[in-house]
Amino acid sequence: MTETIPTSFADLPNTYLDELVEQGGDELRLSMLLIEVSSCNDQADFELLSRAYYFAKEHHEGQIRKSGEPFLAHCVEVARLLAQLGLDHTTVAAGLLHDVVEDTPATHEEVAKQFGEETAELIAGVTKIDQITYESREVRQAETYRKMLLSMVKDIRVILIKLADRLHNMRTLQYLSPQSRERTARETLEVYAPLAHRFGLARIRWQLEDQSLKFLEPKIYQALRESVAMTRQEREDYIKEFKVPIEECLRDNGIKAEFASRAKNFYSIYNKMKARGKPFEEIYDLLAIRIITGTVRECYDILGLIHDIYKAIPGRFKDYISTPKSNMYRSLHTSVFGPKGQYVEVQIRTAQMHHTAEIGIAAHWRYKSNDTAPSDLNQHMSWLHQVIDWQQEARDSVEFMENLKTELASPDEIFVFTPKGHLHQLPKGATPIDFAFAIHTDIGIHCATAKVNDRVVPLSATLNSGETVEIVTAPQQKPKLAWLDQVKTAKARQAIRRWLREEQYDHNVRLGKEALDRGLRSYRPADPPDLNAVAEEFGFRDAEHLYAALGNGDLSIGKVISRIAPLKPMRRAIRPQDRRDIRIQGMQNLMIRFGKCCGPIPGDEIVGLVTRGRGVTVHRTDCPNIGRISAEPDRLLTVEWELEDESAFTVQLRTRSWDRTYLLADIAKAIGDVGSNIRDSTTRTDGHIAEQDFWIDVVDNQQLRQAIDQIEQIEGVLKVLRVDEPANS
Ligand code: MN
Repeated sequence: MTETIPTSFADLPNTYLDELVEQGGDELRLSMLLIEVSSCNDQADFELLSRAYYFAKEHHEGQIRKSGEPFLAHCVEVARLLAQLGLDHTTVAAGLLHDVVEDTPATHEEVAKQFGEETAELIAGVTKIDQITYESREVRQAETYRKMLLSMVKDIRVILIKLADRLHNMRTLQYLSPQSRERTARETLEVYAPLAHRFGLARIRWQLEDQSLKFLEPKIYQALRESVAMTRQEREDYIKEFKVPIEECLRDNGIKAEFASRAKNFYSIYNKMKARGKPFEEIYDLLAIRIITGTVRECYDILGLIHDIYKAIPGRFKDYISTPKSNMYRSLHTSVFGPKGQYVEVQIRTAQMHHTAEIGIAAHWRYKSNDTAPSDLNQHMSWLHQVIDWQQEARDSVEFMENLKTELASPDEIFVFTPKGHLHQLPKGATPIDFAFAIHTDIGIHCATAKVNDRVVPLSATLNSGETVEIVTAPQQKPKLAWLDQVKTAKARQAIRRWLREEQYDHNVRLGKEALDRGLRSYRPADPPDLNAVAEEFGFRDAEHLYAALGNGDLSIGKVISRIAPLKPMRRAIRPQDRRDIRIQGMQNLMIRFGKCCGPIPGDEIVGLVTRGRGVTVHRTDCPNIGRISAEPDRLLTVEWELEDESAFTVQLRTRSWDRTYLLADIAKAIGDVGSNIRDSTTRTDGHIAEQDFWIDVVDNQQLRQAIDQIEQIEGVLKVLRVDEPANS
């Protein structure tokens, strides 16, 4: 078969396609594809396409889709969609082969050898990332998108193949399980339809949206279909009436134009109903007409004529010819009151604008010889580069997907100006913060006030098309958490997030380092500890990350210190019950314990309590337990401190404070300043209040008193208490 294939449409024998059709079966698919390709491109390489077809056929042999069709049918349908967009034969061939690497034993190298590196790269761009390397579906999916975006930078045709693939999958979605249906439809609506829109492929976008709606809201979809079908005749009659005076006028002025009544897609009707909370019958702008003419000049002439005949609805005129949308869409839009006061949307454009409006970026390959296309392509590429720049900074897959969806979910645009008249396109709902970040990240970070048309507005104000926006920066101004809710662009969101994260991180590192240095000072380890090694033991990358964890409270200072200097406290700290530093008049060798209830330390006034069979327990004289027993005076003994060395006692302090940055470091410093040291600490926060416990070593209650005095003077500290009961007994 291969030898007899003509190499292009030009030397196609009349009978060739007939022969293929006659063979029927699978070859019918190839013939349909070749017919489709040749209708847009009479230079198409049939030999290449046929080889790709047979390669796909051989490799997918025996594979059956859930629909019951051979897998090959999917490959050919994807290739046909690409052919219908007028794409070159390399892309169409890649469409035929797009699943061979993912789903068959064929390798990248094999495809490259037989069909060239260009084709192999296109296929690599649409191939999913290997399942095994990722822990979850979400991560894998996000990584697959990331890879796809990067492949698109190298060759933008990747997105065209991916969209064709997705569209055919959506058309055959009913054969999948309900869960897969729902998941795929949602993904299509959130990612692929917006991507199609972003690259100007309106025709594919509408189909993707309607297919998604069909599976996500089957009842609504069905009802809309019926309503639209039932009202079709009515709408067509109305449009006919609407057209009559315009056509007459065009004839008089010698302007040639074609009218097309425009079918809105179901999904956009559904969205309008949802946004306005109105039933189908009350969505009036279903009446839409498109006028296609020869030149830009004629577009404006026609607009003038229509406004002359029908009253224009204020605020609805949009000139996307002089200011194209960022997806290169160009057209004039207006809305007028038609006969019987009905609301009619009118779009006026040239044939080429119309073509670009329908197939967007694909028009570049259709009109390869046309010299206006490359600039459109560059515009698309610059958007892609921007997105990739922001995405590479995303911390993880979740953030990446969130940013990508934010960026894709804002298809409606506004046009605003700098005071010098430079135009900026922003998504609808954008605020002065978005505007500031759009100009420059530094301007965004320091934007302090905004003026719109010379009037000061809040930074969170919504901007409207045509406004002139001036941003005043202040060096001390910094991004705020609330800004994240006030921005519409991924660029601003990403920059704010990064700034907050870095600031918080730096702050935590400083805080953690300060606290740890102070803690270590009391322990005076013989050698300076290798903090990178310690960090690793705790599962952190390096000392800096360890500091950050200490600073934000993920890790307690006590834990780190006991790891670094487990046996070398500056003073020997002994549990109170082990102590013998007490003299009891007239008695020797008595077993002495310290009351757990009040934990006395040297300097505290103390009293001994005789306990049957347990010797003497020492309490503070103000211990509530003594109060209860003082009715039995013969059980109480006078005792005194008798200290032989400067051993330390551990006491527990509890502080309540307004939570603020550096609080922990300030308290640690105060404790260090009185010569005490922290054995451990814990922090609980409840809203703005932080409650912290410190186990500190003191020689006597005078040192303790000093520590409490120092802490009490710290800004924000509300209360400092000595905790009588050890927390864990
Ligand atoms: Mn596929």
